[in-house]
Amino acid sequence: MDYLHRTWAEIDLDSIRHNFRELKKRLSGSCLTMAVVKADAYGHGDGFVSRTLQAEGADWFGVSNINEAISLRRQEVKKPILILGFTPPELAGELNRLNVSQTVYSPDYANALSEAAQRQGVRVDCHIKVDTGMSRIGFYAQRSQAAQAAEEIAQTCSLPGLSCTGIFTHFACADEYNPDSAAYTRGQFQAFLDTLKLLETRGIHFALRHCCNSAGALAYPEMHLDMVRLGVVLYGLNPSAECAGMAALRPAMSLYTTVTMVKELEEGVAVSYGRRYAAGEGGRTIASIAVGYADGYRRSFTNRGRVLIHGQFAQVTGAVCMDQMMVDVTGISQIQTGDRVTLLGADGENRITLDDFAAVNGTINYEECCLIGRRVPRVYIEGGRESAVVDYVVAPL
Ligand SMILES: *Cc1c(COP(=O)(O)O)cnc(C)c1O
Repeated sequence: MDYLHRTWAEIDLDSIRHNFRELKKRLSGSCLTMAVVKADAYGHGDGFVSRTLQAEGADWFGVSNINEAISLRRQEVKKPILILGFTPPELAGELNRLNVSQTVYSPDYANALSEAAQRQGVRVDCHIKVDTGMSRIGFYAQRSQAAQAAEEIAQTCSLPGLSCTGIFTHFACADEYNPDSAAYTRGQFQAFLDTLKLLETRGIHFALRHCCNSAGALAYPEMHLDMVRLGVVLYGLNPSAECAGMAALRPAMSLYTTVTMVKELEEGVAVSYGRRYAAGEGGRTIASIAVGYADGYRRSFTNRGRVLIHGQFAQVTGAVCMDQMMVDVTGISQIQTGDRVTLLGADGENRITLDDFAAVNGTINYEECCLIGRRVPRVYIEGGRESAVVDYVVAPL
């Protein structure tokens, strides 16, 4: 495949297929799947990931906003799409034309969307969002407020211009299994059921009731209802360390860069901006490599990250620059300009994971994969071979 062999990400579509099947095995035959592909499929590339999952039988796709929905429609995603977040009400007509469903999360928003839909002479398909414990968007149903929530939702369902076909909530701590967090998750589920029951007594039923994210789908089969919303697990990542081993997942993304120069530094010679590293006793062999924080290899890896070269770990030395950084390759033999460096993934016996990234940077694997930069070409692998490339810089979609 023809692409710039500077820094690139490999996305193994077979791993994504495998992960989807692993999760699917745990669902009852009637439970639908929503593949959550917001944020460019967590940095993996929305088009190839979504088309792969569509072919694999994913029933729905979840995105954060209407631009992401447009991107999916342009890339041949025909299945239903739900926007999980805010869309300006005046885009009602656009939602309708795209055949995309919108989350409706408050009386104010419902009224505004309904008015815009009527003005524009369209109907918008909606899923009602219930706040059972995130205190984010959603009809407030916490602390015995289910009756109030049901009242507001019932009014929403009667608004002209809206078709409320789905209802959902979102868990705050389904990835934590200590008794307190598990009780909180069960409390959220109960508040959701209470709200549903109150609506049912008014004769209001929803075709799609859903509450589980990846962690919920893994740990709480009794909460799957009509559909589960699978995000991070599709990419082979655990929702949290506590979920490790609950499913046989395969990380789909690897990240590589290239050695650009190798030099010997005498003891005491400083490396990179701010001279935050100096060559140790006896001097060091330092390789410059072609990746920096603008590629998503964060500056907080300064003096703390490590990479794999020829199957061996090499420590990041000095500050990570925008486009380059340096690593200590002392004792690793025969390193030359052009050699491949593994930032993420396996090289021989050793492996670096997004969990390792997250541990160094004090964050979660979700954030790390979203940050892989747009200037890093995504190279898709199928059957162990490169099958396609997406380069956001030279061939924008
Ligand atoms: C992002 C998101 C998901 C997917 O979460 P994962 O933990 O990645 O499975 C599901 N539902 C909603 C509402 C989301 O915003």
